[in-house]
Amino acid sequence: MSSSNHGFSTRAIHAGQEPDPRTGAVVPAIYQTSTYKQDGVGGLREGYEYSRSANPTRTALEQCIAELEGGARGFAFASGLAAEDAILRGLLRPGDHMIIPTDAYGGTFRLVDKIVKPWGVDYSLAKVAHADAIRGEIRPGVTKLVWVETPTNPLLGIADIAAIAAIAHEAGALLVVDNTFASSYLQQPLSLGADIVIHSTTKYAGGHSDVVGGAVVVAEHVAVPAFEDAAERIAFHQNGLGAVSGPMDSWLVLRGLKTLSLRMERHCDNAERIVQVLQSRRDVTNIYYPGLDSHPGHDIAARQMKRFGGMVSFQLAGGEQHAVDAIGRTELWTLGESLGGVESLIEHPGRMTHASVAGTELEVPGDLIRLSVGIEDAEDLVADLEQALG
Ligand SMILES: *Cc1c(COP(=O)(O)O)cnc(C)c1O
Repeated sequence: MSSSNHGFSTRAIHAGQEPDPRTGAVVPAIYQTSTYKQDGVGGLREGYEYSRSANPTRTALEQCIAELEGGARGFAFASGLAAEDAILRGLLRPGDHMIIPTDAYGGTFRLVDKIVKPWGVDYSLAKVAHADAIRGEIRPGVTKLVWVETPTNPLLGIADIAAIAAIAHEAGALLVVDNTFASSYLQQPLSLGADIVIHSTTKYAGGHSDVVGGAVVVAEHVAVPAFEDAAERIAFHQNGLGAVSGPMDSWLVLRGLKTLSLRMERHCDNAERIVQVLQSRRDVTNIYYPGLDSHPGHDIAARQMKRFGGMVSFQLAGGEQHAVDAIGRTELWTLGESLGGVESLIEHPGRMTHASVAGTELEVPGDLIRLSVGIEDAEDLVADLEQALG
């Protein structure tokens, strides 16, 4: 069903998900099959031939996520990083140059630095919170892609998507936005001029910490003529490399998406409450949350996001070990990596998610604590956090 005229929640529940014509099943089936019977040699039913190339459960997810982002085509992968690889090595060629944020997700930096760069694509780091810093790193004719994450992980930096799209396009480069932290519900990068959106659906899209997945959505009109065929090239890479989302994983993400809008509203409510509590504490020296007036990216975030999301980071007076000890005292907040699930998580980026960038420009402060604020009762979260911070 093409439901692109419907509202976000309606699309999340119905896009790509017609009731089954044979049985009437309301929920898309988990097509746990690798291959498909052909009606005579080459006689494919609805194009299904082999499940690396296409699978009906994955197709449902790909249509749904494309409609949620307002794009032309969606692709579902085995992980966010597999989705990133399909964009980077599916579209770039050895000799090309790209720009990534100084505070990009650690795994993105590792992929670019340790796999894409040795493969032949050079990169520069830029502070995406300053659109002009990106202009300064453009190598005319060689820079083919600008990668932006907004809000960034773990410092919640905000990039001005529309301004950076203009800079990238003027240079003949694509703008790719990692929309994982905001989710499709809070931010629609394609409508702001981005060419491609990527998600780790492991996070808010799946939303229940029970699946690892990734997605790519390509805009209806890619602004750079040399990349007009971006969707076909990503499809080729998806099938050629094979890091696809399996049927069960696709189904879990589809189910998660149905409640994305409700969950995000609650994530935002709870995050705002936690920020309020942190603001009242003298031992909290810095709060990173784009919803704060004092956040340097607040005005841009207010313009391009519906609300400010469920991720909050802060620095705690007393040094790294004090922060590590406080994290270890939480009971309700689960100490763990990842984010975007219904349950609240707490972690130490310096020693956990961002350990791989220690000693580089992307190193994070040792006293930084990152919260993925879940959808539990806010006052329970407040009480446990206060107890842990002492
Ligand atoms: C988790 C994450 C990724 C990587 O996704 P995986 O599903 O873990 O491969 C990419 N970008 C951001 C912002 C993330 O949080």
